[in-house]
Amino acid sequence: MSARILSGKEFALQIKEEVRRDAGALLEKTGVVPGLTVVLVGEDAASQVYVNNKHKACLELGIRSDIVRLPETASKEELLTVIAGLNQDQAVHGILVQLPLPKALRTVEQEVLLAIDPAKDVDGFHPLNAGRLAVGDEHLVPCTPAGCVKMLEMAGLEIKGKHAVVIGRSNIVGKPMAQLLLARDATVTICHSRTKDLAAMARQADILVAAVGKAHFVTADMVKEGAVVIDVGINRLPNGKLAGDVDFEQVQHVAGAITPVPGGVGLLTIAMLLANTVKAAQLAVR
Ligand code: NDP
Repeated sequence: MSARILSGKEFALQIKEEVRRDAGALLEKTGVVPGLTVVLVGEDAASQVYVNNKHKACLELGIRSDIVRLPETASKEELLTVIAGLNQDQAVHGILVQLPLPKALRTVEQEVLLAIDPAKDVDGFHPLNAGRLAVGDEHLVPCTPAGCVKMLEMAGLEIKGKHAVVIGRSNIVGKPMAQLLLARDATVTICHSRTKDLAAMARQADILVAAVGKAHFVTADMVKEGAVVIDVGINRLPNGKLAGDVDFEQVQHVAGAITPVPGGVGLLTIAMLLANTVKAAQLAVR
């Protein structure tokens, strides 16, 4: 058996078309152009690439995009002053502080995220938006799990009544993923590093989500025949190539559907960021 390959490219294109249409409709109705500002502190090479990709994607779809660059040596106060200014700026509907922050600022990451106006929190990381999601109000939802669920829905893969097993319980992927699946009537199990007999848990999954951060962690013997496998992991191998958390080569022969890495859910994350920016703009002008 060979699994259906869920191409992030195909689904991301569909989401971007929706975003382009919604941004155009907003402009026509209100004269407002949705605006995203990314704050980038320091020179981290991967972050530079992510930020430039976001900038390009915005411009393609009719979203205003700005990048505020601060030096590696920026203080917490300087960063908070920038955020306070963006909170006040009516042309800015979405604010994203690119993570990770430089080492000196890591301990204040939570304080920085808290400083962002929740109405402009297009990453969906602010505790207010996390709390909203927990009570079933999908306001501004973290982009990666939102993209995974949207992909399942667009692919016509049933969630209701399925047993979903999410490996990973981070605030940005695992927990919101579990909540989104629960809200769609899946029965959800969350696994983590202290889970006993993780393989047995994973084998029960109709939908298996891997958000662990360890290359090839999910092997074929951990997957039920026909399961839908969503690989969130992005890991850099010693040879420089990217690999997911799932052993794709083996698991594709057991799963019913599977996302590749690269070319899987990573592409949906940016698409959902743009969707959140337009949503924040729509809510702001209501
Ligand atoms: P975190 O490191 O924050 O969380 C990893 C989770 O995996 C933790 O809950 C941890 O458990 C669990 N875990 C670690 N080792 C094991 C193990 N041996 N057995 C079971 N569980 C384990 O990572 P993130 O959630 O931020 O990211 C996960 C992956 O997704 C990474 O590869 C990241 O690069 C990728 N990612 C991809 C995105 C995309 O756009 N596609 C966006 C965001 C992330 P515990 O809590 O007990 O420590």
